[in-house]
Amino acid sequence: MSTASTPTRTPVIAGNWKMNNTVKETETLLKELIPLVEGASAAVVVCVPFTDIKRAAQLTKRTNIAVGAQNVAWADKGAFTGEISADMLKEAGAKYVIIGHSERRQYFGETDVTVNKRLKQALSKGLTAIVCVGETLLEREGGITEQVVKAQIEGGFKDITAAQTKKVIVAYEPVWAIGTGKTASAKDAQDTIAFIRGVLKKRFGAVSGEKLRIQYGGSMNAQNVDELMAQPDIDGGLIGGASLKAADFARIVKFKA
Ligand code: PEP
Repeated sequence: MSTASTPTRTPVIAGNWKMNNTVKETETLLKELIPLVEGASAAVVVCVPFTDIKRAAQLTKRTNIAVGAQNVAWADKGAFTGEISADMLKEAGAKYVIIGHSERRQYFGETDVTVNKRLKQALSKGLTAIVCVGETLLEREGGITEQVVKAQIEGGFKDITAAQTKKVIVAYEPVWAIGTGKTASAKDAQDTIAFIRGVLKKRFGAVSGEKLRIQYGGSMNAQNVDELMAQPDIDGGLIGGASLKAADFARIVKFKA
């Protein structure tokens, strides 16, 4: 693994498979991917559908790929139809979990309050959380990007301590760039991520804020990864579409910054 974007931060690149890949398809993709990501420039994670976690964890054992989920319930267990608990995820082999992805916010009513509840649960159970924030196109055009991400961080991280942030990764994902082929320019991504780091430093102190890893997400691909990863505050990526193609994802995790 190469050095981090700063000596204190190891880059981390996570694939978000979304609602793609049956167990059979997972086997095919991972068998192709595993040899290709050896010698990656970052820690590598694949966040797979719940039903794929167990098989993905088996296949990636003794490799440099860790497995994650895409959501976690805020309760331990009980009458929460359709939810999945942290213990269930851990038993299946997940080490990471995405929380508050914009698709969860857009289609399933996720709010900063539910993000906060899920985050507390994930951390109390020892999962590493990838917490997503980002503005919509309307918000960007309205000039309120910073206001929006600041509110998402303040709400999502309510009552979280600086010590707990060791198991947190923030993913800055402008909603208008997700799955659209439109990427924020490296400068815009860097500027907003530097702003987010400032908010985190204010909230958790300079040391913890400096150590927190912040990913960029939104049509990151094999062509634009090097420029994005060369930015001083960008510590990795959350990758949707391109994580479903082994060669593309492998090139991304082997970025040259
Ligand atoms: C995502 O789903 O978090 C994402 C960034 O998707 P894509 O890379 O396809 O834009």
